[in-house]
Amino acid sequence: MTPRKTDIHFPIYLDNHASTRVDPRVVQAMLPFFTEQYGNASSSDHRFGWYAKEAVDMARRRIAKTIHAEPNEIIFTSGATESNNLALKGIAETYRDKGNHLVTCATEHSSVLDVCRSLELSGFRVTVVPVDWAGRIEMDAFEAALTRDTILVSVMAANNEIGTCAPIEALGRMCRSRQILFHTDAAQAFGKIQLNVRTQCIDVMSLSAHKIYGPKGIGALFLRRSNGGVRLMPQVDGGGHEWGLRAGSLNVPGIVGFGEAAHLAESVYDAERKHLAMLRDKLEQGITESRDVIVNGDTENRLPNNSSLTFFGITAKELMSEVREIAISTGSACTSEDIEREEYSHVLKAIGLDSEQAKSTVRFGVGRFTTENEIDYTVARITAYLRQHRAAAALATVKNYSTRDR
Ligand code: PMP
Repeated sequence: MTPRKTDIHFPIYLDNHASTRVDPRVVQAMLPFFTEQYGNASSSDHRFGWYAKEAVDMARRRIAKTIHAEPNEIIFTSGATESNNLALKGIAETYRDKGNHLVTCATEHSSVLDVCRSLELSGFRVTVVPVDWAGRIEMDAFEAALTRDTILVSVMAANNEIGTCAPIEALGRMCRSRQILFHTDAAQAFGKIQLNVRTQCIDVMSLSAHKIYGPKGIGALFLRRSNGGVRLMPQVDGGGHEWGLRAGSLNVPGIVGFGEAAHLAESVYDAERKHLAMLRDKLEQGITESRDVIVNGDTENRLPNNSSLTFFGITAKELMSEVREIAISTGSACTSEDIEREEYSHVLKAIGLDSEQAKSTVRFGVGRFTTENEIDYTVARITAYLRQHRAAAALATVKNYSTRDR
């Protein structure tokens, strides 16, 4: 099928796990806070400050509502990396007297795993629970890892490379019954799967705006205040902002954009999930019709926009350099330098892929602004390339064979 070109925007963007286009409605909401209402939200002496504070309060309420939290449980940060750092380091330091053990999972984002490594250097013990071939946390190993010394568990709600979603509520309940704090990195899950900090027994959760069509450089940490609350040692000291937990003048335009993006994500939730899954399934079915492709992750329980595919006989680099008009990636944007160094994704390693398979793996991430024609074009382009590549490889084998015979 020849795709209609009409609503295809080149280059076609299929890297929505790395970041998303800021929704034009979000941009509109943010603009006045650069040019007209540019006050500091902490300036309590004039209307510029009051207006900025009102806008921040509204964004805080909107974000809290989407996860069933209270507004005073939302602490603004610069993104999920900072939120993960604040959660893990801040809790470990605060609860050190109670125990020195943390539990996490092999497929976590580097902003969790690297923090765990740095905590190990300062005397904490960390158990990294393995996952199965689909990226699902091994529940028996998880339960066995929880000890009297465990103060904190950190397991991501959804994986950024293979899209596998964790059984958050089951994990949260297991932690709650043992009085262990439960943190989840929901940077990818936010807006795509239901998050309810109350019913899912989540104590601390990291969020990021730029994964939900908001701006980069703004995120939040949910911190439970009810039932005694969770205490946390601040990692940035200064002017006492955010209840003394994260100092620094608030990024008012960013916060307003984050609030608007969260509000939009909530209002289009069902329709968007359907739209993303329809596009992803169409893409995946189209490409996997060629038999030399496998789908990674838990296809039963996966982010609706994610497709991680391993192409046999073709490296991701080869494929990406051939289809330059399509923006796809080898995996996490945060570890793409590792690929340059010929190291490979810890997530793909954890699900059992060897280095050859990992180097042949491409992550596709559809998004709110992806069109069906873009998917048709991508399928046609990639399958044509696969056919051509296979024919060339077959020809090379025949040539080799016939020269050997002679
Ligand atoms: N956690 C996960 C699961 C992510 O996908 C990302 C972004 N790649 C982060 C954390 C870091 O988020 P940010 O860019 O907001 O620091």
